[in-house]
Amino acid sequence: MGPVVLAELIVIVPFVVLHLMAGNYALSASVSLFLMLSIVDAWTVLQDRPVLVPYPYVILVLTLAFFCATKAVGLATVLWSYPAIIAFYFVLPRKTAHIFAVLILLPTTMLIAAEMGFTFAVRVFASQLFTIYIISNILQVTFELQKKLLQQVIRDPLTGVFNRRQMDIVLKEAYLRFQRKQDPVCLLVIDIDEFKYINDHFGHAAGDEILIQFVATVEAHTREIDYFFRTGGDEFLLLFFNTEANVALAVAQALSARIAAATFPIDSAVTVSIGVNKLQSDESIVDWIRGADEALYEAKQAGRNQACLHHAEIS
Ligand code: GH3
Ligand code: MG
Repeated sequence: MGPVVLAELIVIVPFVVLHLMAGNYALSASVSLFLMLSIVDAWTVLQDRPVLVPYPYVILVLTLAFFCATKAVGLATVLWSYPAIIAFYFVLPRKTAHIFAVLILLPTTMLIAAEMGFTFAVRVFASQLFTIYIISNILQVTFELQKKLLQQVIRDPLTGVFNRRQMDIVLKEAYLRFQRKQDPVCLLVIDIDEFKYINDHFGHAAGDEILIQFVATVEAHTREIDYFFRTGGDEFLLLFFNTEANVALAVAQALSARIAAATFPIDSAVTVSIGVNKLQSDESIVDWIRGADEALYEAKQAGRNQACLHHAEIS
């Protein structure tokens, strides 16, 4: 945004001065207004704040300036329609950009038709349409690549659940939300039992398949609003918002029973141990996770294939 506005200043300020001297006051005023609004918005964006003047208004002023330029300068304005159209697609939602592009396309085509004839007008119209087509496609490809990259950054490649990096972000959000609202929020730390043995006896590929099926089973029995993370190896973490400790424990017990009853591609049962902990007002995120880990340790010590609630909760 900063470099774009700087380029605008360098290109547009001499333009404004020249047209002011030539007596094209409407054109100078509308271009100056556009410049001011762009600077204000760039300033707020650079400070990480939401833009002060919504982009459609800024573009509306630019379109107005374009009409004034068409009247004052005539045909030469057409040359500026190309960068203007490209700029629309960078700052506006696709549909709004289409509307503004058409707002520029129609008057320029009509102006050319009147001054240079129909055939030339059709050529300009076609080249403007082609510009719209190319910029739309470039932005679509960029958007899809960005989406793919984002998924790679936040998800575990084997199972598709969120990774540890995303977990740190979501847990921090959950923690801040709890401090504001005090709605109950629970963590479940889930670890597959004797997974080393499974790998050693049935192979690493079977181990991977079990991880994938385990995730599918958990996802089938939890809510859309629950967060599911792979924290590493065979350890996972579930985050339940608006859930009391006793409810989270009941869900954990049901999950552990479902996993034990599910069919996996090995001729042996797969079981999990789960530690449950509800966030307390005086706890940090580290304490909260540690509590769930301690409950998991208790479940392992008590013979695995079960869920335990952190002792601080039992009162
Ligand atoms: P416990 O019941 O105490 O949890 O015993 P465990 O054997 O499951 O012990 P632990 O949780 O420490 O073992 C984790 C194993 O998970 C060790 C490692 O070889 C295996 N593992 C880690 N990541 C992967 C993976 O991506 N695929 C497969 N197949 N195995 C993995
Ligand atoms: Mg394990």
